[in-house]
Amino acid sequence: MQTFLKKLVDHIWETHADNLGDLCIVTPNRRAGLFIRKYITDKIRKPTWAPRILSIEDFINKISGLTICDHLTLLFEFYTVYRTLEKEKADEPDAFFSWAPALLRDFDDIDNALAEPGKLYAFLEDIRYIDTWNPDGRELTDFQKNYLSFIKKLKTYHRELKEHLTGKNLAWQGLSSRLAAQKLSAEKHDIPWRHVVFAGFNALSQAEETIIGTLLKKQTATYIPDTDPFYIDDPDHEAGRFIRKYHKLFDPKTMEAGEDGFHDDKKNIRILGVAKNVNQARLAGNLLQNEPGLSTDENTAVVLANENLLIPMLNTLPANIGSLNVTMGYPLTKTNMFSFFDALFRLQLRAILPGRDKNNQFAFYHKDLLALLSHSNSSLLWDLKKGDEKTTAMLKKLNASNQSFITFDELAGMSEEAHIFKDAFSFMNTNWQNDPQKAFSDMIRLTEKFDRLYREKAGKQGGDIIQTPFFVDFESLYYFGKIFRQVLNLLNGYPFLGSVRTLYKLFRQTTSETSLSFTGEPLEGLQIMGMLETRTLDFDHVILLSANENILPRPKSSYSFIPYEVRKSFGLRLYLDQDAIYAYHFYRLLQRAKNIYLIYNTETQDVGSSEKSRFITQLQYELPIYNPRVHIHEEIVSLPPPLDTGDHAIIIRKTPDILQRLDEISEKGFSPSALSTYINCPLQFYLDRLARIDEAEEVEETLEARTIGSVAHGVLEKLFQPHIGQVLRKKHISAMQEQLEATLNNEFSKEYKGGDTTRGKNLLLYHLTLRYLENILKAEAKAIERAAANNETITILALEKELQATITLHEGSDKEKTVRLKGLADRIDRKGRVIRVIDYKTGRIGPYELSFKEWNTPFSKSDKAKNFQLLFYAYMYSRMNDLETDIEPGILSLRSPAKGLQTMSHPGGEGILKKDDIQAFEEELKSLLVELLDPEVPFAQTDDIGNCQYCLFSKMCRRF
Ligand code: SF4
Repeated sequence: MQTFLKKLVDHIWETHADNLGDLCIVTPNRRAGLFIRKYITDKIRKPTWAPRILSIEDFINKISGLTICDHLTLLFEFYTVYRTLEKEKADEPDAFFSWAPALLRDFDDIDNALAEPGKLYAFLEDIRYIDTWNPDGRELTDFQKNYLSFIKKLKTYHRELKEHLTGKNLAWQGLSSRLAAQKLSAEKHDIPWRHVVFAGFNALSQAEETIIGTLLKKQTATYIPDTDPFYIDDPDHEAGRFIRKYHKLFDPKTMEAGEDGFHDDKKNIRILGVAKNVNQARLAGNLLQNEPGLSTDENTAVVLANENLLIPMLNTLPANIGSLNVTMGYPLTKTNMFSFFDALFRLQLRAILPGRDKNNQFAFYHKDLLALLSHSNSSLLWDLKKGDEKTTAMLKKLNASNQSFITFDELAGMSEEAHIFKDAFSFMNTNWQNDPQKAFSDMIRLTEKFDRLYREKAGKQGGDIIQTPFFVDFESLYYFGKIFRQVLNLLNGYPFLGSVRTLYKLFRQTTSETSLSFTGEPLEGLQIMGMLETRTLDFDHVILLSANENILPRPKSSYSFIPYEVRKSFGLRLYLDQDAIYAYHFYRLLQRAKNIYLIYNTETQDVGSSEKSRFITQLQYELPIYNPRVHIHEEIVSLPPPLDTGDHAIIIRKTPDILQRLDEISEKGFSPSALSTYINCPLQFYLDRLARIDEAEEVEETLEARTIGSVAHGVLEKLFQPHIGQVLRKKHISAMQEQLEATLNNEFSKEYKGGDTTRGKNLLLYHLTLRYLENILKAEAKAIERAAANNETITILALEKELQATITLHEGSDKEKTVRLKGLADRIDRKGRVIRVIDYKTGRIGPYELSFKEWNTPFSKSDKAKNFQLLFYAYMYSRMNDLETDIEPGILSLRSPAKGLQTMSHPGGEGILKKDDIQAFEEELKSLLVELLDPEVPFAQTDDIGNCQYCLFSKMCRRF
């Protein structure tokens, strides 16, 4: 393919071959320079001077002669200026770091737009005065006065910071661009090259536009955009909005020949919708493995419009990928390393000195310890091989100890290898709170240690680190190390940074502004890229992920002190410009590609919307008319379970031991919750019920939902117990209301041994439970009234009733197997002629949760689990009692008792189950049990990743 950069080099060769050394080529990013250099080298036959190739930022900074401050230094310099101006009125660093980054972005925008600061800030002040004006003459509040005074000072902050930095030969990028534009516009200023080629630019800032325009006027520059008539010739096409303007302004050299890819080329475009983000990555992996004609070399780009898909994408790449290059930014805050350092900061910040009983040692809050120790990096620190085992064992002991605060020595004592633990986790053993130097030195040492450990781990796995699941974390270490070192250096020059709390804020602020920049070898191997990194590059095959609305284009981004009307009046970038910028990236990426796969997420819960991008819809309407040889095919893809993805799938085959264990359960009885677990995920059932990997007991610091649930169940059982077999009357309910508090106190002391319910959160929860139960009793009284109005009565038949049934399965034509079922129904009563099987629930029930249209739905969808449970109870009760009567299972929600008994809408009707309905359920239940007990059907992972969200084993399965 004749790519843009190849054509550019051909053009340069034709026009400047004799004096390349006097030429400067400027591109939107440094990456393009690598290709240009290679293509020029391919042409050179004799020794010659190479041209200078620069990114636009490097070019501008050469002209301005200024060095760009990194984010941290800029913040610190700004604080120095701000403190000098505000003196004792200055905000503390904590507060300053909250608003300063937004203001620095605004300074950058103002300078990039070459807006006149005096006029802009005056306009801004006027607007803010009007906003806060009270037409009735009321005085402004203190808050409004402070705000206006702050707005008034912005121009001083901007001016003083500019003076302060340029005095040190420093600048932010926008300021450097403004000063470069001013320098070039001055008649006498010359550039160090005879000619400059600006290639591949789309949306220029006003400063860049002035720089290029000035050099073009001086006839020392050429401007060569990368375009296609499809979007340039249509005056309404947003992808061409900026370049159409430059066509008028600059009279560019467009290298016309062959530049009509949308019209001339045969293109195959597949638009593929798939549920969930992670499945987009799996689908891309499947395409790379199976799609005929799709190469897995440098001619193919996998473009991630949402950078967060990088890790799922790396984890789902098929084995046939040879070399690979990742070129994109990835948010530092999304890395595992970030969550580790963040957990470490929080652990240290919340550590307390508990007193003499702990030998005056600092003690850590148990939840912070859990967060840090359960982190995969803690396992790595402890033991490369058995780290998981060791941390799990310690966490069990930690939970069992039921202590809220634990010292380092106490913690080490929970390990059989206390000395190894103490050595590996020595960084926890000193308190950082007033020693930032110590804090950051410790973290620098940790980055170095992790670097060693990751290399060792990759070496043991015998692979290239880029192919390992921890590649991103390994890469992030460089950035964390750099940030920590920088802070350590700055600590010497900026004495106001005394506390670790301030530095923690700074850590979060800086990491949120930093992206890991992967810059591999873009000349070779499959290319995984971000959208911005595709600028000026062309590929035969493009797989674009997250082609969703709200990602392509992205909605309005960061906070600004400058409102829309001021931005518009002074030519600052608007979020509407973003649409045109993204449209250009999208169409430019496709203009020379032959095979295009546009994948979008059809689900709403994840980032972005569930709709495909408007750019795709536009393409579908316009392109086939423009070029009938384009073939566009659209489909919604349903992926097979991840079993097929090979490497990471976990399947447990049914060994004789497992089958024996299943037989034991069949004899003891399957409970509805066990079968619900199987429906949610067969592997989870295996791990939870057969391998017995239980959820560790947690320290119950406040009354948790399950305690509240069992207390409420206990209270209701005690109150209704004396009335079993009786018709319920309102006077019974009145008596229950009187006994309520005493019964509740009793149940609490039984369920929550040693817990204090007289203060804090526990006291609130106590009152909440009391309120729930009061409301339940009120609702019960109303239900009795309503029943009486219909000439009906309510009779309690049983409470906490153990239910049992057996079911006979047919295995083949002659084999039968009997399986026991069991469960505990909260209450069974008779209302009129109907038997009601009632389950109490502490949570709210959505209407969606209790309705389904096919009998197999509760057996296949985990979000219909409540129906399954109700049907299961109703089935057992009817089997135990040989019932011919109708039966009505339902839920009484403690949170919304006024709704009364909430029943199901099912394929047989509303609420009441008839004999046929029970039979239909039985058939489905039999199929489920046959599958569960089938020796040939293994326990596999669910293919619905949403089911993994709250699963204890999600880390093991690498599902979240
Ligand atoms: S994480 Fe997902 S796949 Fe793994 S056991 Fe849990 S539910 Fe199943």
